[in-house]
Order: sequence, then structure tokens, then C-alpha cells
Amino acid sequence: MNRRSFAQSAGGAAILSALGSSSAWAQPTEGTKPGKIMAIAAHPGDALFTMGAAVAQQIELGGAGVFLSLSIGEKGAPKNIPVQQYGEMQRTATQKACGLLGAEAIFLQYPDAEIPFNEESTLQVCDSIREHRPEIVVTHWSGSWHKDHQNCHLIVRDAVFYAGLETLSPSRPAHSVSKLFYADNWEDASNFVPDTYVNIEPVYGKWMQACDFYPMWRGQTGFFRYNDYYSSLAVMRGCLSGFKQAVALMSDSSQRTQRMQSL
Ligand SMILES: [Zn+2]
Repeated sequence: MNRRSFAQSAGGAAILSALGSSSAWAQPTEGTKPGKIMAIAAHPGDALFTMGAAVAQQIELGGAGVFLSLSIGEKGAPKNIPVQQYGEMQRTATQKACGLLGAEAIFLQYPDAEIPFNEESTLQVCDSIREHRPEIVVTHWSGSWHKDHQNCHLIVRDAVFYAGLETLSPSRPAHSVSKLFYADNWEDASNFVPDTYVNIEPVYGKWMQACDFYPMWRGQTGFFRYNDYYSSLAVMRGCLSGFKQAVALMSDSSQRTQRMQSL
């Protein structure tokens, strides 16, 4: 069975189940309005490069977007820039990128490379989900070599669970997230199997511009060619889904169950 979905946005009824039908390619569902999407990443670059296009598309279609970075990614500093200064450059780049896309940028204060997976970090993210009340959350896939990414995945899964738990009452009312997706990240590629493709052609140029605020995107911090990789990946994912450019997401296993009267 073909489990891939092809969508104009990343949420709810707008997702079209392909199930082998060619008519599922490329047409939006009538009468659906995209909801709010929250991208939760270990580092600001992950948020914009791997989740940013899906957020931009959600906003383009009338939804809303929030980027939450658990750290400011300061330890990715090149040798000629002090760590704290680089962190502030990352923060500024994120604020500019979000300004361009029409999204909100928020940050937690964990040190880069030392993001803890514990009750305190999970409750902080839970609180942020309850405050911003997104229908959709996108975060890191678990198959990562990077410990911050692994921990972010675990934190978000538990935070989504906590956020919807009526009987857990720190500061804000409970909120249930409808959809949880994992992003297509070169550092999180182990066993990543995408099943949902979102058309990003309308926002591809704007998303490229947003990413260009980051020194890392412009090749100023290391060997990896972020710009070439993610701009090409969008084209490759587009080839697989019948769009000019697309992002591929992996849905949480809990939302793949289908309840049907017949096949
Ligand atoms: Zn990262």
C-alpha cells in the first residue's frame, strides 16, 4: 500500500491520502483552512532550513507559524567569531527570517550541545505549546547522530502528551495537538521514511531568502553546503510528489492508523 500523502499544507483535512490514486496529486482540498504550525528545533538553523518551508506554506495559505528554538546554536561558531557573539547572530538571523515569513520566533535558554531531556525541559516546551496552541507540531526525527536533536525529539513527544493532559496543570489550560510531524534533516537521516509531501512552490523563493540570513547557510561556518543541500532536496522531493518543490515529512506513527468501513 502506498502510504504517502501529498498536500498543499501540513495539517488536518488538507492532507490528501494518495492510496494509489493519481487524482490525489497536487489539488488542494476545498474549504479547508490551514491551522497554526509550531516548529520546535534544537538549533535555529534546523528550524528554518528543515521546517521553515512547511511553516512558510502554512502562513501563505492563511495559517500561522511559530518557531521555537531550544538553544541559539552558539557552539556552531567558526574560529574567528566568539561563541556568544555567534549565538546572538543566530538569534538575529532567526528574528529577521521570521519577520520575512510572518512567523513568531521564540527561544529557550539551554546551552547548545547540552540540551537536557528531563522533566524541566519537557514542561517548558509543554508550557510553550499550551501558550501558542498549534494544531500542528513539527520537530526532529529520532534517528540523529546529534544528541541535542535526539533530546529535542524526546522532549517534544512528551511535551505534546503533557500539553493535552487535562489533569496536568502547571500554568496554562490544556491543549491537544492534532498532528505531529518529523522533519527531513541531513543530520537526522537514520530510518527517516517520509510519508507526507507538502507543496512549497509558492514560498520557495521567500524561504530561500529567509535561510540566507544565517551565516551557516552562506557557507561561513563549516564544510557542509546547507544552501545547496536544502535547495536541491526541495527539488528532489518535488520530483517524487508531483510538485515543483516540496518538503517531505514523516508523520508520527500514532496518526497513521486509519479507521474505515471498508477498503
Ligand atoms: Zn542542529
